[in-house]
Amino acid sequence: MLGWWFRIPLWQRVVAALILGISAGLWWGPGAEQIKWIGDFFIRSIKMLVVPLIFFSLVSGVAAIGDVKKLGKIGGRALLLFVVTGQIAVWLGLLLGTVFKPGLGIDTSKVVMGETPAPTVTSWTDMILSIIPQSPVQTMADVNVLPLIVFALLIGIGILMAKEEGEPVAKIFDSGSVIMQKVTMIVMELTPFGVFALMAWVSGSFGTDALLSLAQVVGLNYLGCLLIIFVMYSAMIKFLAKLPVIDFFRGIVDAMAVSYSTASSNATLPVTMRCTQRNLGVSKSVSSFVVSLGATINMNGTAMYLGLATLFGAQLFGVDLSWGDYFMISITATLGAIGAAGIPGAGLIMMALVFGSVGVPLETIAFIAGIDRIMDMMRTTTNVSGDAAVAVTVAAMTGEIDIEEMKSADDV
Ligand code: ASP
Repeated sequence: MLGWWFRIPLWQRVVAALILGISAGLWWGPGAEQIKWIGDFFIRSIKMLVVPLIFFSLVSGVAAIGDVKKLGKIGGRALLLFVVTGQIAVWLGLLLGTVFKPGLGIDTSKVVMGETPAPTVTSWTDMILSIIPQSPVQTMADVNVLPLIVFALLIGIGILMAKEEGEPVAKIFDSGSVIMQKVTMIVMELTPFGVFALMAWVSGSFGTDALLSLAQVVGLNYLGCLLIIFVMYSAMIKFLAKLPVIDFFRGIVDAMAVSYSTASSNATLPVTMRCTQRNLGVSKSVSSFVVSLGATINMNGTAMYLGLATLFGAQLFGVDLSWGDYFMISITATLGAIGAAGIPGAGLIMMALVFGSVGVPLETIAFIAGIDRIMDMMRTTTNVSGDAAVAVTVAAMTGEIDIEEMKSADDV
């Protein structure tokens, strides 16, 4: 009876849900909060997958790479792309902030203020220490992704070094990762409902008033993110990966819709992994490795936003910034983007680190907090698309992609 529903490709159901959700929210207004629980149900189910999925697929991915030298080749390329694109993103944010000056001419009496969240990471030494798991089990229980990745990478490398003796354990992780992909497939069927409810809630609760007063920041945030996605990533796919750009974007529609509605790279991780492997033909080992790592440290949307928000705060409170300050922002914003967890609002917390480094008042955060979610959705989409773009590029550079699979991604 439900055959017709499943015959529609999932991405089409998700896009329809996105559009219908926005329309329903605009029509319903704040009352749409009543169905937010459906979105939370979806986010919980998808979050349930994050720890086992990262653990099984990362270990089996690293083990499948075959030798430590090749792992270095793939990891080195991925890290280089993460850093270069991150730097371009921060400078783009600084450029947009300098040219359009969103912090000047704001009638602050009209702004609905949010709360200034307490900074969690205030120094970069804290950040470095926090990536080493004190107890792997605790790390898993806390869904603390960065130390979990470090642990999984080490186990994978251990398996590679153990050679034949490591094979039985590698097999267990392989089968665990296949099972987790099947479970992901089941949970993905909830996507249209989750996306509908979350979009209705967001568009219903952010009336146009809240947006209008800070329209310029919101607009610049969207503009910067769209430039990163459609110019920088397209260039990367076309010139570095030498693959069709349209096919790339068609393959990641699901991940884009889920990241936009959940505002969480972590929650989207299972979907991004599935899109890169199933729709774009990236090998399991490269996809598990690059996408898991990227979801935590590769956040170009967040980096751009941190640059833009710092200039916004400086203009709002009349802080003069020198060239030295700009360089400082480019470094702290990159660190902030690496340190930000892939969860909603993480970028906002990281602002404390960047603002503090150049003397921009932390009160700026309260100005932006009220409308952060709507900007978070777009920067998360940028972050997630970036993970997929780097995975595809590294895979293409190292011969780890099935081109035919990418070109025939019709039934996604
Ligand atoms: N929500 C973003 C993400 O999950 C992080 C941020 O707040 O910028 O990628």
